[in-house]
Amino acid sequence: MKRYCIECDDFEEVELKKVKKTLPVKGENITLEIEEFFCVNCGEPVYDEVQDSDNLRLFYDEYRRVKGLLTSSEIIAIRERYGLSQTALAKLLGFGDKTIARYERGYIQDESPNIMMSLLEDEHCFSIIYEKNKDKLTAKEQEKVKKALNICSDNIIKYEISAEDLCNSKYNTWKEYSSKSGREIRFKANFKDVK
Ligand SMILES: [Zn+2]
Repeated sequence: MKRYCIECDDFEEVELKKVKKTLPVKGENITLEIEEFFCVNCGEPVYDEVQDSDNLRLFYDEYRRVKGLLTSSEIIAIRERYGLSQTALAKLLGFGDKTIARYERGYIQDESPNIMMSLLEDEHCFSIIYEKNKDKLTAKEQEKVKKALNICSDNIIKYEISAEDLCNSKYNTWKEYSSKSGREIRFKANFKDVK
């Protein structure tokens, strides 16, 4: 693969190398091991638009991790779980049309939009927000959410058990089953039975 090298003033063969770099993100120094292109001829780093913007996103995501903010991929996962497009999620939360798209590209969200998006990780919270704002979505968008919510609830096994059974630690077996099967298990204990 060839890229333009400023040092050699020509298109030269390049190679990817791992380098440790520190970059200030919003006043915070973030250090990461990233991959950059280097000129095989002179050994100097070579600019590559795609690679550099990928790296920048890694630094932004690391900043988000340090600050306890959702990363791009976590935002994408939440959105896709409910069958929402970027604009549909933005409409549901009362954000500007392009806001979610920008967050997913790497733009760092402030704390309050972060809290709002984090709430959606909980399906019950999502349902409350959705019921309140679903009129902002088109019929087709609503249909997709309904379908996604059905799949979510298919993945949950609900148990109604006595408090005694819960204490008698069948719990660990269930937890193991849950992590193996990928299905969430929710307990509703009946505390009337406590002796
Ligand atoms: Zn060179």
